[in-house]
Amino acid sequence: MLSFVVIGGGPAGVEIAGAVGELKRYILKRDYPGIAPDDLSITIIEGTDRLLGTMSREASDTALRDLNQLMVEVKLGRLMKTYNDNVITLDDGSTIYSEMVIWTAGVTGVPIEFSGTDYKAGRGGCFPTDQYCRIEGLEDIYAIGDIGLMTTDKYPKGLPQLAQVAIQQGRFLAKNFNSNKRDRPFSYVDKGSMATIGRNRAVADLHSIHLSGFIAWLAWMFIHLISLLGMRNKINVLINWIWAYFSYNTSLRLLLAGSKYPKRGELWDKG
Ligand SMILES: Cc1cc2nc3c(=O)[nH]c(=O)nc-3n(C[C@H](O)[C@H](O)[C@H](O)COP(=O)(O)OP(=O)(O)OC[C@H]3O[C@@H](n4cnc5c(N)ncnc54)[C@H](O)[C@@H]3O)c2cc1C
Repeated sequence: MLSFVVIGGGPAGVEIAGAVGELKRYILKRDYPGIAPDDLSITIIEGTDRLLGTMSREASDTALRDLNQLMVEVKLGRLMKTYNDNVITLDDGSTIYSEMVIWTAGVTGVPIEFSGTDYKAGRGGCFPTDQYCRIEGLEDIYAIGDIGLMTTDKYPKGLPQLAQVAIQQGRFLAKNFNSNKRDRPFSYVDKGSMATIGRNRAVADLHSIHLSGFIAWLAWMFIHLISLLGMRNKINVLINWIWAYFSYNTSLRLLLAGSKYPKRGELWDKG
């Protein structure tokens, strides 16, 4: 159970591997003194030759360096082929035993039949759409966000599966429906990408500006804080973050460890 294997080295994979790496480095010794840190291993497997493939080369290099510092083993250029009986087999034939596999290598759509139409599902079961988010081969049916597959010159494989795409397409479609006009095709505005790798470690590509380390980490926190709904939520989260930063402690935690008190069963037996 202590051999964590993360499949996929995109932002989600890098973030989760970094979080487990921090757990190993800072939390384990204090909260689980019975577990030797060396017994916990973290491996991230990425099919291409770099982490954070949709971000800049600097971001990829920083993520690799930071994960190595957090004692995460990074395997690049390897694809997971099968996972049977808790054994992962990679495309080079090597195997890893793990009961804790975390899949972050993308989502696929649930296949839906549209009998009597020209509809054909796209890559990953997504709905191929035109530039107005209309599903190709169907009439008056639209797909936005992760499930839609809209290709453009800049994104020949389709727009990325990111929250910004979903939000912008949602606004675009609502506007079109409300005005009953389709005069402008959808155009995705890339506001930049960020990934946090751990405490004081993050990478951010904001157009031509690349940030890393503490500044990128602050920028990541600021963007996520202002995106929360309601001032009360923002203040709550900010206080929790400040508290966690200085105390290395979260407010909710379940510790499973031996107790110095009699076990419940023993008390029960004695009536
Ligand atoms: C671990 C992780 C981390 C991520 N981090 C980031 C990030 O930092 N930044 C970023 O921009 N993006 C991130 N993403 C991607 C982002 O979450 C998605 O791009 C975004 O949520 C897409 O929005 P959506 O509305 O298209 O789909 P979703 O948010 O997935 O919403 C689809 C909803 O439909 C429901 N649903 C599915 N099938 C059916 C059905 N048959 N009937 C009814 N309901 C159904 C689902 O339960 C779900 O609630 C992350 C994704 C993951 C998994």
